[in-house]
Amino acid sequence: MIKFLDLYKINERFRKEIDEAVKRVLDGGWYVLGKENDVFCGSFAKYCGTKYAIGVANGMDALNLIIKGYGWSAGDEIIVPANTYIASILAISENGCVPVLVEPDLSTYNINPDLIEEKITSRTRAIMVVHLYGQAVQMERIWQLAQKYSLKIIEDAAQAHGAMYGGRIAGNLGDAAGFSFYPGKNLGCLGDGGAITTNDDELSRKIKALHNYGSHVKYQNLYKGFNSRLDEIQAAILNVKLRHLNSDNRRRQEIAKYYLENIKNESVTQPQIYNEIAHVWHLFVVRVREREKFRNYMMKSGVETMIHYPVPPHKQPAYAEWNHLSFPITEKIHDEVVSLPISPILMQSEIDKIVELVNGYR
Ligand SMILES: *Cc1c(COP(=O)(O)O)cnc(C)c1O
Repeated sequence: MIKFLDLYKINERFRKEIDEAVKRVLDGGWYVLGKENDVFCGSFAKYCGTKYAIGVANGMDALNLIIKGYGWSAGDEIIVPANTYIASILAISENGCVPVLVEPDLSTYNINPDLIEEKITSRTRAIMVVHLYGQAVQMERIWQLAQKYSLKIIEDAAQAHGAMYGGRIAGNLGDAAGFSFYPGKNLGCLGDGGAITTNDDELSRKIKALHNYGSHVKYQNLYKGFNSRLDEIQAAILNVKLRHLNSDNRRRQEIAKYYLENIKNESVTQPQIYNEIAHVWHLFVVRVREREKFRNYMMKSGVETMIHYPVPPHKQPAYAEWNHLSFPITEKIHDEVVSLPISPILMQSEIDKIVELVNGYR
């Protein structure tokens, strides 16, 4: 069986380095907000080309803290793609802000920049772009709109560690970005983890307090803050895995290239890319009309596939107030997408088997 994602194998490659990292923390006797976190934040900021990176508990908290850091609340509107993973939208609602949904572009699955301007009102504060499946959003038009209407740009970069646009890395394409280090992401730890990257001095300073009970100095609380920190063990593991991120991403790009060149089946719509380094292939997503038939066929032949995602946020019970709304492109995507295995540990024989199977599907 070819598993969709074999986390054991992915991490087993670094067993020795991870063992040493965990041992270092255990031996050091310091478990929250210490050296490992400082080192990781420094390295990750450097990786993204930003002034700051702040470790937090998970990707959703990263987005949530950015919104809180800017001080947006009830009635403030944030534009967000309708087809994102629901966490982007939950982070907006959690602050009482209004998520304003925009349809994606069917060719990139990212927010359609041409549909943003009509959604901007006097209450709009920000555009949240999501580099979905690992492909960096084409930012040019979005930068123009942000400038024209004085809006902030937040990146949901949870799927896009290392993706590039115009010579800059995701995490440094807007005012602030949220990353997730959930185990299955391109840069994943062995539990939950996340980070915020930004060049904004004031925002960074505020979030550094907000994520630690609202305090810069112990027992002095400037804000009604939170507890959302990246613990030392996860930071130590990320210090190991960050060193391997680029080579893992390159391997994903090689596999994607092989799929793109060798999968030939009219019933299977392949992803479209605009630039080879823009995409770090967190997921390789194809579209198939009779999706269940295709998935069963693959499964019977020993290949596990997944759906990202089966139900769009506006059709979820959690957002009952939106259930009557219609976003046809978002719904089409959710009805047809299937993710093929793509991870740095796939062997060429497995990749060949997947290609052969997809090509044999009728
Ligand atoms: C994973 C993910 C998140 C949430 O990150 P967590 O660390 O799981 O909280 C947010 N947005 C997108 C697009 C994601 O893929």
